[in-house]
Amino acid sequence: MTTSQKITSVTSPTLSSDISSHVNSHGKSQLKSGEVALVGSGPGDAELLTIRAMRFIEQAEIAIYDRLVSDEILALLPKDCERFYVGKEQAKHCVPQDKINQILVDQAKLGKKVLRLKGGDPFIFGRGGEEAEFMLGQGVSCHICPGVTAASGCTTYAGIPLTHRGVAQGCTFITGHMQNNGQLNLPWKSLTCPTQTVVFYMGINTLPKIAEQLVRHGRDINTPAALIRKGTQPEQRTYRGTIGNLAELVEKHNITPPTLIVIGDVVNQLTEKQLTIPGFLNAKDYVVKDNIVKEVMGKVVA
Ligand code: SAH
Repeated sequence: MTTSQKITSVTSPTLSSDISSHVNSHGKSQLKSGEVALVGSGPGDAELLTIRAMRFIEQAEIAIYDRLVSDEILALLPKDCERFYVGKEQAKHCVPQDKINQILVDQAKLGKKVLRLKGGDPFIFGRGGEEAEFMLGQGVSCHICPGVTAASGCTTYAGIPLTHRGVAQGCTFITGHMQNNGQLNLPWKSLTCPTQTVVFYMGINTLPKIAEQLVRHGRDINTPAALIRKGTQPEQRTYRGTIGNLAELVEKHNITPPTLIVIGDVVNQLTEKQLTIPGFLNAKDYVVKDNIVKEVMGKVVA
C-alpha cells in the first residue's frame, strides 16, 4: 500500500480554485505534468522522509538527484521513474549548477512530472533557492518541500541535543566550505559564545583552520566537539573529542565527507554509553545527573 493510499483521513478544508488545482483528492500536494517538486530527502534514513516528500516521490516520472540522497531513498522511486544523477563531489561538480538548473527546466518543459531530490533540506546549504529562482524565471512552477537537515538528523541520531536548558541557548548552522578566493571568511567572534552550539557543514577539509580560528577568537580549546559521518545511515560513525583534538581525529580515522562538525557542551550531555544504536537511547546503566535530580525536586535550573 502506498503512503497516499494510507493517509485517507486527512480532511480538506474548502479550497479556492487556484489551490485546488494543485492538490489531490486528499487535499494534499499533487505534482502535475510540467511541474517540478523540489524535495528535501533528509540525511539518509528513509524513515526521516516527510509524508509530503513521499507523496512527491510516488508521483515522479523523472528524479534528478544528488550524491547525498541515500540508496534506501532512491529505492522508493516508482519502478518506471527515470533517474538522472547530477551528484557532486566536494569542489568537483559532476554537472555544473547552471546545467542542473537547465535540466530541470528542460525536463519540465517536456511535460514530465519532475522530482528534484536533494539531501537534507533544499534551502539549507542546498542551493535550492537558486534552482527555484531559475525555474520561476523560465516559467516553470515548483513545489517546495523541506527535509530534515543534517544538523538536526545527524545530531539527534548521535544522541546530541542541539540546545539544552542551562547548557546551550542557541545553535548556529554555518558552512566550513572555502570561498572561491581560498579564504574562510566567517564571523568567528559570533561563534565563540560558550552557550551556543555551532554546527559546521562541509567543514571536514578546512577543520584545522576552523579549530584554530575558533580558539584564536576566544572559544575554549577544551570545548566538547563531535564529528558525525554519514549520520542516520547504517554506516553512521560519531567521533567525540574537543576543539583541540578534532583535527587529530580526522587524521587518525581518515574521516571524509559527508561529515558534520558539532561544537559545544551539548556534545556530552547524554552519555555515549546510552547510545549503542543510532537514534536509540538505552536506559540501562544510566546515571541520573545532578541537574535533573534538582529539577525533579523543584529547584530552579538555569
Ligand atoms: N542540504 C543539506 C546540506 C548539503 S551541504 C542539508 O540540509 O543537510 C553538504 C554537507 O552536509 C556535507 O558536507 C556534510 O557536512 C553535511 N551532511 C549532509 N548529510 C550528511 C550526513 N548524512 N551525515 C553527515 N553530514 C552530512
